[in-house]
Amino acid sequence: MTSALPKLPFLPFSKPTIDEATIAAVGEVLRSGWITSGPKVAAFEARLSEYFGGRPVRTFNSGTCTMEIALRIAGIGAGDEVITTSISWVATANVIIEVGATPVFADIDPVTRNIDLDKVEAAITPRTKAIIPVYLSGLPVDMDRLYAIAKKYHLRVIEDAAQAFGSEWRGRRIGAFGDFVSFSFQANKNLTTGEGGCLVLNNADEARLAEKYRLQGVTRSGIDGIDVDVLGGKYNMTDITAAIGLGQFANIDKVTAQRRALARHYFAQFGADFEAQSGAQLPVADFENSNWHLFQIILPDDGPGTRARFMQRMAEQQIGTGYHYAPIHLFTMYRERGFTEGMFPVSEKIGRLTVTLPMFYAMTTADVERAVAAVKTILIQR
Ligand SMILES: *Cc1c(COP(=O)(O)O)cnc(C)c1O
Repeated sequence: MTSALPKLPFLPFSKPTIDEATIAAVGEVLRSGWITSGPKVAAFEARLSEYFGGRPVRTFNSGTCTMEIALRIAGIGAGDEVITTSISWVATANVIIEVGATPVFADIDPVTRNIDLDKVEAAITPRTKAIIPVYLSGLPVDMDRLYAIAKKYHLRVIEDAAQAFGSEWRGRRIGAFGDFVSFSFQANKNLTTGEGGCLVLNNADEARLAEKYRLQGVTRSGIDGIDVDVLGGKYNMTDITAAIGLGQFANIDKVTAQRRALARHYFAQFGADFEAQSGAQLPVADFENSNWHLFQIILPDDGPGTRARFMQRMAEQQIGTGYHYAPIHLFTMYRERGFTEGMFPVSEKIGRLTVTLPMFYAMTTADVERAVAAVKTILIQR
């Protein structure tokens, strides 16, 4: 006998919301005769700069190249060490290798799941030139402490704020202060352009260098003047993409507020006894700083295959899940550089047991209730 209940539609863990005004704006760009970098990119950069308190901002075609260019602007390369976290998208560490520098990992804090700033300080050597912190799920690190460490040891900071668009630190917007701040506009991010990224910079000189690195190192002057004095790449954003970004801005405050409300609903639905009953760990209940890019729980450890089994059983209940992230230092390419199991035990444990539940703007409180009910079926009524 099959159930008489209609099968509920699959609930993905993330889904972009693009409104009709944005779709129309993209159509206008496509009809305009100018589809690569032009007036829409300039307008998007101006809007971003305004959002980040007037700091210079330049856009790119990914969040990955945004960080790579920040490293290049900072003059970081061969012989330099850069400290980062193993629990991030692999891009965060790949860019360090890409510029010829050496990635150094510091383990994470088991509660925030962000880089542990005590371990950052312990990892500093005379070769250390920069720190790349990641604000996992949109929750910032202790920004006061981060910049105190950077100041004390004369280090540059490239904030991987890919997930933190709209996040704050004690009432100040992430991106509106600090050193380099990098954002991603990849499809799952709170503000998306499909693919893309932006870098918040410190001054006009850095902004000019960013423009060179994103377009073959070219500087133009007069009607036909052109020179190339640094090796740049092809990283510019198109006007088609920028039109999506401008459209997304109309909703960004509502997006952050909605995600915070959904996160609160998750906590209410899980209830005060959930952690004790299930052995799982909920995220930090922060509704002031985090933009709730992701809602991640840590599963109770049932040995190898714990997460795969959980994700499978969630899928059977029509609930999508993800995992952010597998520890970077255990990937083959990183093992080949000398990293091994046991070096960063907290990262390794969380990398094996973290699972991402559905969280996106168009989600409803009923969707949250479905997701929580499915989790409880698996972890408590087992
Ligand atoms: C999305 C993301 C990136 C990479 O951004 P892309 O735009 O996909 O290149 C880097 N770091 C973190 C933490 C991310 O979430």
